[in-house]
Amino acid sequence: APGQTADLRELLDSTLTMLKRKIGDGVRVDTDYAPDLPRIPVYAAELNQVWTNLIDNALYAMGGSGTLTVRTGREGDRLLVEIGDTGPGIPEEHLERIFTPFFTTKPVGEGTGLGLDISWRIVVGRHDGDIRVLSQPGDTRFQVLLPVTP
Ligand code: ADP
Ligand code: MG
Repeated sequence: APGQTADLRELLDSTLTMLKRKIGDGVRVDTDYAPDLPRIPVYAAELNQVWTNLIDNALYAMGGSGTLTVRTGREGDRLLVEIGDTGPGIPEEHLERIFTPFFTTKPVGEGTGLGLDISWRIVVGRHDGDIRVLSQPGDTRFQVLLPVTP
């Protein structure tokens, strides 16, 4: 298990700061952080890679305009991080495949199809967490659940 603990809000804010230029002016960023969440054991650099992958995908889906939502909360004995976008959504028939290595709908050179595979391995494999996706046109949410105790 990870040897250090972190505040998810700090991790998310540092990722958002790093991506500020890429987010640009056409995308609104809405953050909604639950108060008083406990610090939890994490591999901080790896989780920042997860937020970066999910936000990258959200930005690509919105094509420069829309709303990016970053939310934290509690769900039972786990913490929730939700990254949402107002892009076109993920077709039902793709939902089963998006976490598969090399699955991409992006043109050659724009996507490797590895972002969600890597994110899955970091969240599930390294943190004993889970990733869910809820998607309909205009409202796509990736939800990452992380255990509070190792
Ligand atoms: P890549 O970004 O290189 O294509 P990912 O593993 O990050 O690879 O994503 C795989 C695929 O999942 C994307 O090509 C896209 O079809 C779909 N996808 C992921 N996130 C979103 C999103 N927020 N909105 C729409 N489609 C998405
Ligand atoms: Mg990606």
